Amino acid sequence: MAGREDPFPVFSWLYGLGGLTLVVAPCLSWRNVELLGLSVSLPGLLWHGAWIGLAGFLLAVFRRRCWLLKMSAWLAAALLTAREVRTVLTEGDRPFLQLQLKLSSINEGLGSLGIAPLELYRRTSEGWASLGSGARLALAALAAIALALAAELVLRLARGQTLSLALLGLHACPQCGGRVTSLMHFCPTCRCQLSSGPLCSRCGQPLRRSDRFCSACSEPVL
Ligand SMILES: [Zn+2]
Ligand SMILES: [Zn+2]
Repeated sequence: MAGREDPFPVFSWLYGLGGLTLVVAPCLSWRNVELLGLSVSLPGLLWHGAWIGLAGFLLAVFRRRCWLLKMSAWLAAALLTAREVRTVLTEGDRPFLQLQLKLSSINEGLGSLGIAPLELYRRTSEGWASLGSGARLALAALAAIALALAAELVLRLARGQTLSLALLGLHACPQCGGRVTSLMHFCPTCRCQLSSGPLCSRCGQPLRRSDRFCSACSEPVL
């Protein structure tokens, strides 16, 4: 029965792991370029990756809220990641390209003397292969979160929740079918008990096994 605890703890670690990875990912390299013969990794923070970390943090905050909120936060993180990846792929080498262009007159002179031009920078690989570990990690994190979202929705539907209830993070009361949340201990429609643990005999506050007095009304626990 729905209690204070997360009704779907199986997927909690997937959300947590995904959100944490999204925060870490921008700090890692998002692009590998070759500069003067050395492979240089460009940190993700250069590409506004902090926004993706913020989206991951919001996802973690909304972990226990409704599915629709989690879906929206995930969508925002996915769109930001897509934008970052696109920026890295299309504009990532712009500063290096400009550096290279500054050498063009020197290279012209060298060329007239029959000497090979100075190549400051060249791509080590093209397209997706040039993405650094940060971008790959962010995409993997989004995949994990998407998997958890889909699995949670399927499980909610399999447990008899309607799509609208599942999207809003609500459950149906097992007795009257009224709308209840996982934080409620009693159904506000029919008064039936929703949490499975022991309750205070005076005020109905849920008790822990070790409690000697109720934390809400100080009633001794029998
Ligand atoms: Zn009810
Ligand atoms: Zn009490």
